[in-house]
Amino acid sequence: MAIFGQANWRYCTKCFGLWFNGNPTNGVCPAGGAHSAGTSSNYLLAGDNTSLQAADEENGEEAGGNS
Ligand SMILES: [Zn+2]
Repeated sequence: MAIFGQANWRYCTKCFGLWFNGNPTNGVCPAGGAHSAGTSSNYLLAGDNTSLQAADEENGEEAGGNS
């Protein structure tokens, strides 16, 4: 099974957790306020989510469809 990933995860400098930075807000941080990206890198989480696989195939119609 192919592995897919989701980028834009950040490390919060306040609660030391990972949070997804692709939403309109930064969510609620247990340490108070919203999560803070600070100087965090952009982390990509790997997974085998089939819904991400389907979205990827929709964008790649020219890749051929033999199965
Ligand atoms: Zn936080």
